[in-house]
Amino acid sequence: MALLVQKFGGTSVADLDRIAAAAEKAKQEVDRGHQVAMVVSAMAGVTDKLVELTSGANPLHDAREYDVVVSTGEQVTAGLMALKLQALGVPARSWLGWQIPIHTDDVHGRARITDISSGELRQRLADNQVCVVAGFQGVGSDNRTTTLGRGGSDTTAVALAAALGAHRCDIYTDVDGVYTSDPRIVKPARRLSRITYEEMLEMASLGAKVLQTRSVEMAMKHGVPLQVLSTFGKAIGSDEPGTLVVDEEEIVEQELVSGVTYSRDEAKITLVDVADRPGVAAATFGPLAEANVNVDMIVQNVSEDGSTDLTFTVSRADLNRAVGILTERQSELGFKRLVPDASVVKISVVGVGMRSHAGVAQRMFQAVADKGINIQVISTSEIKISILIAEEFAELALRTLHTTYGLDKP
Ligand code: ASP
Ligand code: MG
Repeated sequence: MALLVQKFGGTSVADLDRIAAAAEKAKQEVDRGHQVAMVVSAMAGVTDKLVELTSGANPLHDAREYDVVVSTGEQVTAGLMALKLQALGVPARSWLGWQIPIHTDDVHGRARITDISSGELRQRLADNQVCVVAGFQGVGSDNRTTTLGRGGSDTTAVALAAALGAHRCDIYTDVDGVYTSDPRIVKPARRLSRITYEEMLEMASLGAKVLQTRSVEMAMKHGVPLQVLSTFGKAIGSDEPGTLVVDEEEIVEQELVSGVTYSRDEAKITLVDVADRPGVAAATFGPLAEANVNVDMIVQNVSEDGSTDLTFTVSRADLNRAVGILTERQSELGFKRLVPDASVVKISVVGVGMRSHAGVAQRMFQAVADKGINIQVISTSEIKISILIAEEFAELALRTLHTTYGLDKP
C-alpha cells in the first residue's frame, strides 16, 4: 500500500467531464489499496480571469486582496472534485489552504510554504478517504490567505507529498511528460523516461513550462519522486508512462545532454563605451536589483582604449523599466549610448553528463556557426550552456542542436 499525491492542472480540470476523469484516476488508485491526496488547480483560464478582474478593480492592487480574489479558482475545483469522488462512491472531502493549514510567509502573490500540518489529513487517509486540497494557496502569519505565484499548485503538491512522506507525487498535465525539446518546434523530440532533479530545475527555469521551478527545488530538497504524466492518456488507467524526475543515482544510462530549451522572454541591453574603472558594474546593476529587475546573462568586453561595452539580458517585461533606470543615470555611469534589443532568444543545452565531459560547449558553438548563426552572449553553469541569438534563428538553432547531441528520435 502506497500513499500517493496526485496533482491535476488547469486543463485536466477544465470542465465537469475532465474533473470526472480525474476523480476516476484517484478512484483507481484507491481500488488498488492506495491512499490518495489530490491537489487541484483552478479550471483552465479561470486564474487569468481573476487576475484581470483584480487589475480592473484597482491597477495598484493591494497584494493581500489580490490573493483573496485569485485563490478562489482552486476552491471551486476542490469542491467539485470532492463531489465527483462522492458520486463515484469514494469518501472524500475538500480542504482550503487555511483549513489544513498550509502556513506560508507573508509575501503575498508569491508566498513560500513554511510548514504544513498534516495530522488531520493523515487520519482521513488512513480511514480511506480521499483528501482534495486546493492548490496554489496558503495562510500567512497575518492569518490572511496567500498565493504561491503562478503555477503554484505544483508546489502545493510537492510540499504536501513531502509533509505526508508520500511515495510519489504524480503531476497530471496536458503533456505526457518532459521532452528533449519543444515537440511543436522540434519534430523528432522524444519523451524522456527519466530526468534528474537538477536537469529538471534548469529546464523549468529556462522556460520549459511543465513544472513550477520552486516545486522542483522542493522535490530535490526532500527527495520526493515526481512523475509528470498526461491526463489525456488513451484509456483511463492505461498507465501510460510519463517522465520520472529522480536522483542522479537512479539513472543508469546518463545522456550527455538531456534537453535543448529556448526562452523568448529575453531582452538585451548594450551600454556602449562604458568607462573601464572599478565600480561601474556595481553602479549599473545595483539600481536594477533594487527595482527587482533580474539580470540574467552578462558580457563585458574591454577594448584597447580603456573603454568597454557592457551587454546583458533582462526579461522582456522588464526591458522598458531597465532602460528608464539606466538612462536616468547615464552621466553617472558615463556610457555613450544605450542599445535595447528585444528580438533575441536564449537557447540552452542542459545535461548532468557535461560535468564529466569536455567539448560539449565547443560542439554547440560549432553547430550554430555552421548554420551561420551569430552568438551574442554566452553563459554557462555546471550542467548548462546558454547562448543568446537573434530571434529569427530560434527554431533553426533548436533543431540543429537537437541533432548535434544525438537527441533525435530514432
Ligand atoms: N491556478 C494557478 C495558476 O494558474 C495555480 C496553478 O494552476 O498551478 O497559476
Ligand atoms: Mg502548471
